[in-house]
Amino acid sequence: MPEKRPAAERRNDFHEIYGEFDQAQGQQQASRCSQCGIPYCQVHCPLGNNIPDWLMLTAEGRLQEAYEAAAATNTMPEICGRICPQDRLCEGNCVIDKGFESVSIGAVEKYITETAFAEGWVAPPKPAHERAQSVGIIGSGPAGLAAAELLRGRGYQLHVYDRYDRVGGLLVYGIPNFKLEKEVVARRHALLEEAGIRFHLNTDVGGALSFADLRRRHDALLIATGVYRAREMACAGVGLGNVVPALSYLSAANRKALGDAVPDFDSGPLDARGKEVVVVGGGDTAMDCVRTAVRQGATAVRCLYRRDRKNMPGSQREVRHAEEEGVEFLWLAAPEALLGDRVVRRVRAHRMHLGVADAEGRQLPQPLPDSHFEVPADLVIAALGFDPEDVPRLFAAPELAVSRWGTLEIDRRSMMTALDGVFAAGDIVRGASLVVWAIRDGRDVAEQMHRYLQAKAAVATAVSAAE
Ligand code: FAD
Ligand code: SF4
Ligand code: SF4
Repeated sequence: MPEKRPAAERRNDFHEIYGEFDQAQGQQQASRCSQCGIPYCQVHCPLGNNIPDWLMLTAEGRLQEAYEAAAATNTMPEICGRICPQDRLCEGNCVIDKGFESVSIGAVEKYITETAFAEGWVAPPKPAHERAQSVGIIGSGPAGLAAAELLRGRGYQLHVYDRYDRVGGLLVYGIPNFKLEKEVVARRHALLEEAGIRFHLNTDVGGALSFADLRRRHDALLIATGVYRAREMACAGVGLGNVVPALSYLSAANRKALGDAVPDFDSGPLDARGKEVVVVGGGDTAMDCVRTAVRQGATAVRCLYRRDRKNMPGSQREVRHAEEEGVEFLWLAAPEALLGDRVVRRVRAHRMHLGVADAEGRQLPQPLPDSHFEVPADLVIAALGFDPEDVPRLFAAPELAVSRWGTLEIDRRSMMTALDGVFAAGDIVRGASLVVWAIRDGRDVAEQMHRYLQAKAAVATAVSAAE
């Protein structure tokens, strides 16, 4: 990996924690690849990136070609290089990993793309010719942006609607700066605008703008609205003051870092300064919360997770970063009650053990009798995952079919919902997932929407010829 800033330094700011390869390091790292006949790294990259090819080109110093190979399958290689959980995807499946460190694929991907930006090789996706048909995309997260870029490249009139005031979805208001600095997202946004994509921000579809209006306005629509309904803790005391959902906490921190005014932030429940913080959960969102609290100046940060380290959903790399930064992990522990008068003061928890496996082979955590203990807490952050909002109700479109988890149902081949010309992609279809999967869905749905629009145009031409 490129040089990682010492924990004592990075605890005090929100900048990214890794530096960047220089040319010699980039070439040296890329030259470690053995050019496998069956590249498991590529098989386990959701985008099927042609990793061996761009590693070889980098090793040979042919960086512009390496960038073109990386960008051929990925609309945001500079973002995936930074925030993919590579230890679970490409790098975790690199054959060199067995006994040695794997090739640092993500860091090389970032190096190639940052070089391409610095050299001016990254062009806005301007189309060779314009088409009359227009596409509306609801949601400017990675799924919406990937689809917008690829459809714009094919010449469609592109309009992206988002209820937030900035483009990027969770890239901006979820993921903290120390993993992804926001200028990186703003730079992509600028390129897409330059390509002619129109962004309609502060536009809540289903609120000020109706979904039915949008359907009339565009030849096809994409719903890429993500999942935002926070799962709640099921224990006594959740209504106490200073008990907050993870995304409210992280959004406020990101807004502060962006220089926005956040009402009542200072020493309110969204600021961890001077507080003893307990984060409940074991996913990447929980890791982002604990590390944000450290940077805000919490006096102690503890993470309570009901399974053990081996069985946590978050990336092991993120846990290591958090431990280095001073976070204490209480594995196999679950909250039983939040205690306090008006605001929370302590968390009463019990120890767990892993029992028999469920139908998916995952051992179920069970409470151990008489294992109670308490930890002090002035701020409790619940990071237990997200579910979809009720999209059919929100959009007044009961025809939209949903799964038993509330995600939108689509036809697996055409990626169309139950409504003609309305497609869906990203977390709203998969449930809470990863940026790289959202990009993959955006790429796939752009292809399907293009097919649909071509067929629609052909029918319109045939009808007008017959008239
Ligand atoms: P989103 O990114 O959620 O974007 C949806 C957009 O739709 C938003 O901008 C929203 O404002 C807009 N929208 C919703 N409803 C409406 C409406 N009615 N009208 C208008 N606009 C609307 N993944 C990784 O790969 N690596 C990580 O390190 C990582 N860290 C994460 C940290 C946190 C805290 C969280 C919450 C998630 C993280 N993820 C990470 C997951 C990743 O961010 C998501 O999987 C990904 O952003 C999903 O993309 P999306 O485009 O489907 O939705
Ligand atoms: Fe690895 Fe993600 Fe890049 Fe694929 S997109 S090569 S999984 S870092
Ligand atoms: Fe190279 Fe590792 Fe991929 Fe093999 S698995 S092609 S060594 S990066």
